[in-house]
Amino acid sequence: MVKIIDKRKINTQIPAVSILNQAIPVLKKKNFAGIRNIILYDEDRRKGKKALGTYYPLSPTRADIKIYFNWYYNLPDELKNSDTYLMFAVIKILLHEIYHHIVHGQDRLKTPDPEQEEKDADRWADGGARYVFDCLFTNKDYKKEFKRIRNLIKKYKEKASVDSVPQLVMHKKQNDKKNE
Ligand SMILES: [Zn+2]
Repeated sequence: MVKIIDKRKINTQIPAVSILNQAIPVLKKKNFAGIRNIILYDEDRRKGKKALGTYYPLSPTRADIKIYFNWYYNLPDELKNSDTYLMFAVIKILLHEIYHHIVHGQDRLKTPDPEQEEKDADRWADGGARYVFDCLFTNKDYKKEFKRIRNLIKKYKEKASVDSVPQLVMHKKQNDKKNE
């Protein structure tokens, strides 16, 4: 069983532990095989990095996943106030890193290069997060909220203020490095 460790001291507004505890049971167990801990941090403290999450290999088959939360402060209030968006964002970050685990820790998927891997990880994570919502909520009103969130992100993107926050559409991350 994957252990969730919450090391946040500042960015605690998002109920991430409860979100993960809801999401993980509806996802395929085999995708988590080899994952030891999911660790929640205020921020990515590696020099020159500001990832949303990190895949952290412990051995060829085992790994930790780290999720960072300082993007919360860059959010426009409309997104800060959307529980749907916050939940989607946390699940998407988790699944993005799980995708790296499937490629590097489980060898079940292949990608041609790191750049393509980032795109594939995002697409896979986006679909997976939608799947979790589908499983958890019989009321499908969240789909309307997804649409509203997408439009909000588009609007704020034009003002270049939401580049480093989790996206609800497929996006290309700048500065991608393997295993991020
Ligand atoms: Zn990545």
